[in-house]
Amino acid sequence: MPVPQYLISCTMLLSVEGRERKCSREEQKKMFTAFLIKYAEIGVKGKNRYLFEEALVQQIKYAVKRCDGEFKVTRTQGRIYVEALTDFDFDETVENLKTVFGISGICPVVYIEDEGFEKLGQAIVAYMGEVYPEKNKTFKVNARRARKNYPLNSMEINSGIGSVLLDAYPEMKVDVHTPQIMLNIEIREKIYIYSEVIPGPGGMPVGTGGKAMLLLSGGIDSPVAGYMIAKRGVKIDAVYFHAPPYTSERAKQKVVDLAKLVSRYTGPIYLHVINFTDIQLYIYEKCPHDELTIIMRRYMMRIAEHIAKETECLGLITGESIGQVASQTMHSLAATNEVCTLPVYRPLIGFDKMEIVDIAEKINTYETSILPFEDCCTIFVAKHPVTKPNLNIIRRHEENLEEKIEELVETALKNDELIIVHQ
Ligand code: ATP
Ligand code: MG
Repeated sequence: MPVPQYLISCTMLLSVEGRERKCSREEQKKMFTAFLIKYAEIGVKGKNRYLFEEALVQQIKYAVKRCDGEFKVTRTQGRIYVEALTDFDFDETVENLKTVFGISGICPVVYIEDEGFEKLGQAIVAYMGEVYPEKNKTFKVNARRARKNYPLNSMEINSGIGSVLLDAYPEMKVDVHTPQIMLNIEIREKIYIYSEVIPGPGGMPVGTGGKAMLLLSGGIDSPVAGYMIAKRGVKIDAVYFHAPPYTSERAKQKVVDLAKLVSRYTGPIYLHVINFTDIQLYIYEKCPHDELTIIMRRYMMRIAEHIAKETECLGLITGESIGQVASQTMHSLAATNEVCTLPVYRPLIGFDKMEIVDIAEKINTYETSILPFEDCCTIFVAKHPVTKPNLNIIRRHEENLEEKIEELVETALKNDELIIVHQ
């Protein structure tokens, strides 16, 4: 097979228009037909490594399904490749790969058939010509011979390709310690060439760390909290409490939209929508109003925990951060926490609002979170809620609810509306 079309066209362009001509970034992108996926933390997981790699492959498949074009995702000898089988949009594919936790780097790859060393040299010269229009750079060739019957060993490939490049581009220099360009050549059935690394999101592949139940409101914080726990490999289910007709259909839709945005990173989310109206009204009727929020939040946690246990979640997640509002003082958090037996993960606990907003912007939930729809917590909120709730008093006031609360909770659970949210 001859040198691939893109290389011929690029070489021709270079020779027609002269060395000064710079290939645009857009032209460069067209030459890549695959991505090598780098992963950091999961590389050190010993015997379980294949489980982590398999989870990563699954998440990558989920991410590239959203892209135009068809892709093959393969795992071979400690490498994961995403190969395009059809035309595809480079930027869109990279954006989607950037949502896959566990990826530390995305390397755009050019691959060629093995047609002997001379052809390899030509292909590399064309590659460098296209990707690095400025030639006054240092480089190092880093060959890896995964196919051992290749006639040259890695050292021979390194020095051979190094000389070919120095002949073609005398302005370039070799630097084996801190090269500006690390030119990687992997010899497999085909030969893979790459030198660029686009940073991935890091973290661990979703699905390697069990599952947790996110209390998802329409605010800024809880979507970010879900994102952060998912980043550590945890699969996310969610629960949303609404209070129709006090909260609208649009407020609920906003939460579904937020779950959808988060699901870009987490994979499909099972969202449980719980009608909380009668419980809230009953608490409103029976308990002191300055304790409403705390007592309500204790019931939210109880119900969330019930669903969590039924769906094999190993913990709850909230978007709480110390001192942000009255219900998030240390005293209030202790009162809310007391009703839970599962661990409650609060990844934003030490974050300032601005830090949370930064992440919300980065993951694209912020604009949706600030849409002005009512939340069930704010509708029944007291003017002066307690900031230092006394647990004994709270428990005593919850006794006022004894007559009907169990039945109301049961009804709420029975009417759980499950929405499966995905991209
Ligand atoms: P957020 O921005 O996430 O709404 P917030 O700053 O408004 O948080 P609170 O209203 O006190 O804070 O809620 C604290 C946490 O309780 C939320 O981060 C969320 O995890 C959970 N929560 C609050 N309201 C609801 C709701 N209606 N449904 C589900 N979870 C909720
Ligand atoms: Mg809120």
